[in-house]
Amino acid sequence: MEKNIIKDKLNRPMHDLRISVIDRCNFRCQYCMPAEKFGPDFEFLPRSALLTYEEIERLGKIFVRLGVEKIRLTGGEPLLRKDLPHLVEKLSAIKGLSDIGLTTNGVLLPKLANELKAAGLKRVNVSLDTLNDELFGQINGRGIGTAPVLEGIEAAKQAGLGVKINMVVKKGLNDTEIIPMAKFCKEQGLELRYIEFMDVGSTNGWKMDDVITKRQIFHLLNEEFELEPVGPAYFGEVAKLYKYKDKDVNVGFITSVSESFCSSCTRSRLSANGQIFTCLFNGNGHDIRNFMRNGATDEQLVERITAIWNGRDDRYSDERTAETNKNRKKIEMSYIGG
Ligand code: SAM
Ligand code: SF4
Ligand code: SF4
Repeated sequence: MEKNIIKDKLNRPMHDLRISVIDRCNFRCQYCMPAEKFGPDFEFLPRSALLTYEEIERLGKIFVRLGVEKIRLTGGEPLLRKDLPHLVEKLSAIKGLSDIGLTTNGVLLPKLANELKAAGLKRVNVSLDTLNDELFGQINGRGIGTAPVLEGIEAAKQAGLGVKINMVVKKGLNDTEIIPMAKFCKEQGLELRYIEFMDVGSTNGWKMDDVITKRQIFHLLNEEFELEPVGPAYFGEVAKLYKYKDKDVNVGFITSVSESFCSSCTRSRLSANGQIFTCLFNGNGHDIRNFMRNGATDEQLVERITAIWNGRDDRYSDERTAETNKNRKKIEMSYIGG
């Protein structure tokens, strides 16, 4: 298919698209949706506000025309959206799309992994921040132990999906788990990605002091393992990758805070209610759902998305200071999907 690759003001193409399919979650991770802020009275989006699968498919095709090659489904917890394999099937039929992934807390994978794989899903990133049941229960705010997530990881492997593990590291919370998680993932042949705790949204009480940087994690790992760098797989690869010298398993870092990577950020985001966000930290979404529901043609959608991307000059992480964190209107991670 002929692609018309669009570029933003800083000459960055739009290479990948994150689609949040739902803003709800069965967890209340304290760094993402703290239980005290997302309580029983919290008003999530009504069903009618969510993009339908047909709308997502239509937009997916247009994004691919404009250069997107990879789509990742996320949330909230994407596996809570009814019949998700049906959406995966629709998206995987889009010509010109080379990869579909999913980021999940893993709990529903035993039920859905085979169906997702059959529908065309290639890989899953499963979030797991500790192997300690008690600590995990505290982090997820629901007292849920690690067993359902570990079962989810196993189910994904058995289904033939590629599996990576995401671990958010927060000082004083789970930094003691850095080495145990590395050992576990190395043994299991799973790529572990350490994610620096980020100042997304305004509910997680982020402070620069709570961040454990890649440098600090790397220092700890170096005392236990011998690592060698692996080059980026493609322009816009966000993880800084290493591999164990004695085993062909990668370990990566998402250094959003300590070593920003805005100059190669090629990611566009579509929220569950059809707003386009050009940066994780830019709280101003661009409505596309109502435009579409009011009868926009494909060509008008192409024009609007092109104009949004052409106008993009976001580089929040490059510019981050303690002050920018306080003063900026930001969108919650559970809404936009990480
Ligand atoms: N519910 C799914 C999950 O947990 O994988 C998908 C959505 S979640 C918002 C996407 C990713 O964002 C997860 O890997 C999660 O750990 C990460 N995340 C959430 N809040 C974060 C924060 N404050 N800093 C860094 N990463 C965060
Ligand atoms: Fe839910 Fe994922 Fe956020 Fe945890 S990180 S609260 S599982 S959306
Ligand atoms: Fe991309 Fe915004 Fe993150 Fe920079 S801060 S890497 S522009 S999402």
